[in-house]
Amino acid sequence: MSKTIAFIGLGIMGLPMAKNLVSAGFTVRGFNRTPAKAEALAEAGGQAAATIAEAVDGADVIITMVPDSPDVENVLLGDEGILASAAAGATWIDFSTIRPDVATDLAEQAKEKGLKPLDAPVSGGEPGAIDGVLSIMVGGEKSDFDAVSEVFDAVGKTIVLVGPSGAGQTVKAANQLIVAGNIGLLAEAVVFLEAYGVETTSALQVLGGGLAGSKVLDQKGQKMLDRSFDPGFRLQLHHKDMGIVTAAAREAGVAIPLGSTVAQLVASTVQQGNGGLDHSGLFTVVEQLSGKDRG
Ligand code: NAP
Repeated sequence: MSKTIAFIGLGIMGLPMAKNLVSAGFTVRGFNRTPAKAEALAEAGGQAAATIAEAVDGADVIITMVPDSPDVENVLLGDEGILASAAAGATWIDFSTIRPDVATDLAEQAKEKGLKPLDAPVSGGEPGAIDGVLSIMVGGEKSDFDAVSEVFDAVGKTIVLVGPSGAGQTVKAANQLIVAGNIGLLAEAVVFLEAYGVETTSALQVLGGGLAGSKVLDQKGQKMLDRSFDPGFRLQLHHKDMGIVTAAAREAGVAIPLGSTVAQLVASTVQQGNGGLDHSGLFTVVEQLSGKDRG
């Protein structure tokens, strides 16, 4: 594999994804705002870059994986950002989850500098990132998408070009709506089952085999039973994503009443100081609503 990849943002998702790119044979130069995480990539066979410019210099593919729209804007457009250093012709893949309208705007600015932009948010969580089996919803030009298929294959399993720039982020917003709704209802079901003294491990086992079964139930059910909410996907990030989907739905004239309710529950959990918990920690607020959190 001859491609050199710059990877910016080595957090919960970015670091294991970058490691998988190293394992696939790419030369990976990682930059992280907090340098220790780039050292972790170097220990896994990648290279630690001290600046974005150093990571991006001569790279064929530039990847960003940072939290929110303003972070991607900073990393791309800042004085020492990607557009200041990238070579024309490089592909820019943004794996971050951000606002679709911002993704579309940034793609235009990247194109003006000769880059090939792809918005490519992911789903599958930290386990999917570690195992290289993420679902990746991509917006951009088909020729640009096809040219970097080996990069996507190294980090994902279900990889679909869903439309032009911004479309990947629109699909991801729908993904976050579905996931939050599932988590909210799973939390309500667990509180309900516990109120009846049902043996909850058995209950979740049988629910998982029927129409109520889901990846959310498989991955988050036990965390709720154990009250074990280490992230994973932080509620603060899901709060950001509920803001994205509620604003985008309003802009499109689409009503999402269930989504709006879950968005308020997520907001409440964050305001109570629990934004650092895994999103399964939405359970804490659902439990409070019934006064069941007092032991
Ligand atoms: P994370 O663990 O918080 O990592 C974010 C990384 O971005 C950190 O390395 C952080 O650097 C860096 N960063 C933050 N702000 C920055 C800025 N302004 N400039 C430069 N670097 C910055 O987040 P994550 O869980 O990996 O999530 C990353 C993205 O993936 C988010 O958009 C999230 O919604 C999405 N996502 C996450 C999951 C999941 O399960 N975690 C699943 C699917 C999608 P520092 O180390 O210095 O803080």
